[in-house]
Amino acid sequence: MESARRRTFAVISHPDAGKSTLTEALALHARVISEAGAVHGKAGRQGVVSDWLEMERARGISITSAALQFSYRDTVINLLDTPGHADFSEDTYRVLAAVDSAVMLLDAAKGLEPQTLKLFEVCRYRGIPVITFVNKWDRPGRDALALCDELVDRIGLRPMPLTWPVGVAGHFRGVLDVADGSFVRYERTAGGATVAPEERLSAERAEAEEGEDWQRAREEAELLAADGGEFDPAAFAAGTGTPVLFGAAVLNFGVRHLLDVLLELAPRPEPRVDVEGRARPLDAPFSAFVFKVQTGMDRAHRDQVAFARVCSGLFERGMVVTNATTGRPFATKYAQQVFGQQRSTVEQAYPGDVIGLVNASALRVGDTLYADKPPVRFPGLPSFAPAHFATARPVDLSRAKQFRRGVEQLESEGVVQVLRSDLRGDAVPVFAAVGPMQFDVAAHRLEHEFGCTVRLDRLPYHTVRKLGDPAQRPLIDAGHRSEVLTRTDGTELALFDDDMALRILQRRHPDLVLEPLLAEG
Ligand code: GDP
Repeated sequence: MESARRRTFAVISHPDAGKSTLTEALALHARVISEAGAVHGKAGRQGVVSDWLEMERARGISITSAALQFSYRDTVINLLDTPGHADFSEDTYRVLAAVDSAVMLLDAAKGLEPQTLKLFEVCRYRGIPVITFVNKWDRPGRDALALCDELVDRIGLRPMPLTWPVGVAGHFRGVLDVADGSFVRYERTAGGATVAPEERLSAERAEAEEGEDWQRAREEAELLAADGGEFDPAAFAAGTGTPVLFGAAVLNFGVRHLLDVLLELAPRPEPRVDVEGRARPLDAPFSAFVFKVQTGMDRAHRDQVAFARVCSGLFERGMVVTNATTGRPFATKYAQQVFGQQRSTVEQAYPGDVIGLVNASALRVGDTLYADKPPVRFPGLPSFAPAHFATARPVDLSRAKQFRRGVEQLESEGVVQVLRSDLRGDAVPVFAAVGPMQFDVAAHRLEHEFGCTVRLDRLPYHTVRKLGDPAQRPLIDAGHRSEVLTRTDGTELALFDDDMALRILQRRHPDLVLEPLLAEG
C-alpha cells in the first residue's frame, strides 16, 4: 500500500541549529520529487511576489511554508516546514498536527533551547515519536554524555543512541554504529557540496587507527547502553525514549544514517481518529484535514492556499470533495505541492502526503475534506499557549461593525486568539498569539479585507497560568500587574507581568489555584 511507503515528519529546533542546512543535506542524499525541485534555502527566499512582500522584506524572513517531498530508497518522505525565527507562530505548532514523527535538531554546543522545548512539548502532548539529531559535531561543543543527560534531566526523555561520535565535538572522526559496533569514518568534501564519502571499518581497525578517540567512544556508548540506553522500539513509539544520532549537516555527516532511521524506524501514517472517536481506515475513500492556510502568497493570483494532509484514500487532482464543516463541495482542480516559492502540480497523493489547494478561500484551518461515503470529520483547531498579548481597537470608531466582523473571522481562522473580560468590555478585545507576527497578519487583514485600520497596544504580560478556581478571579484582577482574561474556548488565563508579579500574588494568597499552561491544551 502506498501509505506504508510514506514517512511524514518535521524538524523541531531553535533558530540557527541548522534546520535549513539539514533540509538541504537530506534532499541531497535523497531525490527531490517535485519537478520544480529546488530546495528551500535562505538564498532562494528572495523574490517572492506576494501580498506579504513588504512584511517579508522588512523582516528578512519567509512566511510561506509547506512540505518538501523526496524519495529515498523505496520510500516517499514528506518533510513539513516548521517556521522559526521571527515567524514562529501558532502555525508552527499546527504543523505538528500533520506529522507522524519529528526530528529534534540540537546544536552540539547549545543542547536544548527554548523554541525546541516548546515544540517538543507539543510533540509530547500529541504522542509524536521524536528522533534526536545532535548537529554541528564538527565544531567545539558539549560532551556527548552531558547532552544525553540533559534530555533525561530536563524533559524526561530517555536517550537511546544509535550512533556515538568518535572524537570530541570539534574533532569529528566519524561515528560508532551501535547496531554492529563498527566504525563509520567520514571524509570531508569541499564545503560538504556532495554526499560525504563514508568508510566502514571493523572495531579492530578503528582501535588501531583512531586509538584513544575510538576507545573513549566505545566506553561511553557501553556506559549508556548499560544505563538503559539500548534502543527500545516501544519507548520510541510511546515518546518516552528517543533514538539519538550525531552528525554535521553542513558536511553531510550522519545525514544518510538519519534517512535510514526515518525509513526503518519512524512511524508510517496511521488511521486518523475522527470527532466520534472512530479511526478512518487508510484505505477508506479520500479524506484530509487543513492544517495551514496562507493568504495572498501570489499577488498576481490573489489566491489563498490551504495545505491539507491526506489521511485516507487516494487523492486525484480534479476530484470534487466535500468540506465537512460547511457541507459544501470543493473542486480540487488546482492542487499543488508548495515548498518555499516552488510550486508544482500534484496529480495524486496518498495518506501522509500534503496537498496545497489553490483558490481555497472557502477553507479554514481545521476543516476536514472527504470524498464519497461515509462522511468524516476530524477534530478541529487545537489551542496553544499564547505568549504575546495586545489590545485591539478600530482607529476609526465608525468602523466598529467591520472591526467586530473582522475579529470574529480572524478568530475562527485561528489567525489570533481573542480574549475578553468584563473589566475591559466587549469593544476592546485582547489579541493573543504564540508569535508576534500573528499580530501583523491580523492587522494587515483587518485593514485590507475588512476596511478597518486597527490600533494594537502591546500588554506587558510574560507569565501565563490557567486559573483553577473561577471564584479567585478578583484576587488576580485586583493585583496591578496581573489580570484574568477569558479565551473563547472558555479557558481562563491568568496573566502576569513577570514571574515576580506571580510570586508576590501567590505569597499574599497562598490558596490561589493556578495551573501551568501547556504548549498545547
Ligand atoms: P536554521 O536557522 O536552523 O535554519 O539554521 P541554518 O541551517 O541556517 O544554519 C545556521 C548556521 O549554522 C549556518 O551558518 C550554517 O552554515 C551553520 N551550520 C549548520 N549546520 C552546521 C554544522 O553541522 N556544522 C557547522 N560548523 N555549522 C553548521
